[in-house]
Amino acid sequence: MHSSDSTLTWLPSVDRVLNFDGVKQLVEQFGHRQVTASVRQVLADLRSSLPAGGTTGGRVTDRAIGEAVGEQLAARARPRLRRVFNLTGTVLHTNLGRAQLPQEAIDALLMASLSPCNLEFDIESGGRGDRDEVVDGLLTELTGAESATVVNNNAAAVFLLLNALAMRKEVAVSRGELIEIGGAFRIPDIMSRAGARLREVGTTNRTHLRDYEEAINPKTALLMKVHTSNYAIQGFTKSVSEGELAALARAHGLPLVIDLGSGTLADLSAWGLPSEPTPQQAIKAGADLVTFSGDKLLGGPQAGIIIGRKDLIARIKKNPLKRCLRVGKITLAALEPVLRLYREPERLVSRLPTLRLLTRPVAEIQAQAERVLPILRNVMHGRMLVSVVPLHSQIGSGALPVDRLPSAGLAIGPVAGTRSKGALLRTVERAFRELPIPVLGHVREDRFCLDLRCLDDEPAFLAQLAQLELGAMS
Ligand SMILES: *Cc1c(COP(=O)(O)O)cnc(C)c1O
Repeated sequence: MHSSDSTLTWLPSVDRVLNFDGVKQLVEQFGHRQVTASVRQVLADLRSSLPAGGTTGGRVTDRAIGEAVGEQLAARARPRLRRVFNLTGTVLHTNLGRAQLPQEAIDALLMASLSPCNLEFDIESGGRGDRDEVVDGLLTELTGAESATVVNNNAAAVFLLLNALAMRKEVAVSRGELIEIGGAFRIPDIMSRAGARLREVGTTNRTHLRDYEEAINPKTALLMKVHTSNYAIQGFTKSVSEGELAALARAHGLPLVIDLGSGTLADLSAWGLPSEPTPQQAIKAGADLVTFSGDKLLGGPQAGIIIGRKDLIARIKKNPLKRCLRVGKITLAALEPVLRLYREPERLVSRLPTLRLLTRPVAEIQAQAERVLPILRNVMHGRMLVSVVPLHSQIGSGALPVDRLPSAGLAIGPVAGTRSKGALLRTVERAFRELPIPVLGHVREDRFCLDLRCLDDEPAFLAQLAQLELGAMS
């Protein structure tokens, strides 16, 4: 027995707590089992935290015990996956779930979640179908490829492709394209895990056609080009175009594979955005297979899409790993309507959230910042300086790493003469993060910045600002 037990005899028993008025209601809400466990926990915490005897500061009231139980249960019941406001300035933020889906995709994934659907059933023949057929037709129509298949994400697409086509063989890749992207996707590692041998070609800054030519040998399975999605090599550089590489691959009877990373099916320059290579361009240039993500610029659900030659796609689909990496019905349901939107590029901006956010006019974002400014100033009570500032958004997820989109937002900085600015900014950052719908920004040059490019629910944002708890700031 703990020595303190006997001196804390005033603590109520579990049964007594369960009969407190407030706690009885909790039992109705959360069930007997959960509430009992929580009461035990709260009592145990009290026993270990109170000084022996529990005399200092008097006894803990019944009411306080009931409230502690209620708070614990509410915290346990709160979903771990929560909505946040992404005001970081990175539109396709990997840590924040990347693309927001269009309504058409939401409707379709709800349908597929709520009812049985013909995922692998051919309604016309009454026979068994193939889940890739949900999107195969749209993908070939939009890209000009012969065939397509979909897996969990683009990393899986690259992995599966290498395992299916290059196991125990060599894959030639330029040294300038041996990328690492966030979350430990590194071309050399993926290659070895897939059982393929990486044959490095050329140098970091310059790779010539003859370098590929010299690398080709009887063990070569593929020539591969990887889009350098999160960096740019500038200066004295040389890389081989898709077209030239395709001709070389063809001359040697080898497939050319291109990992595009963020593949959008629309020409972004039509909206004044920096242009990004598209899967259809890669196919046209002669690539035999192209891989890209579903939730980057494409603006759909997490998925990895492989398009290209029918015979090669068939080999990939026969690989047993396809079964391990395949997507579920919810993903396919969401992907289909997203792809369908690309049939009408003119209406894409108004229908696809990713593109809408990327193309928001800076004047509109600025006007929004001016609207929010007085309200934010008001909740800061003069304790911080708030101003509208020009900012630069990033596309994110490795797409167009060098380009920045002019944007606007709010900067929250210390008033003149503040000491320990760092601590203050951390307090502000945390206060926003602890709002009911956490608001995420970024700290830059002594200021906490909120880029409003992605603020699409202004009323919900404003409604919770009054709850900002800045505590005792100096
Ligand atoms: C993003 C990216 C990947 C990985 O894609 P995920 O869909 O995140 O798995 C692979 N290759 C390139 C070039 C990328 O940019």
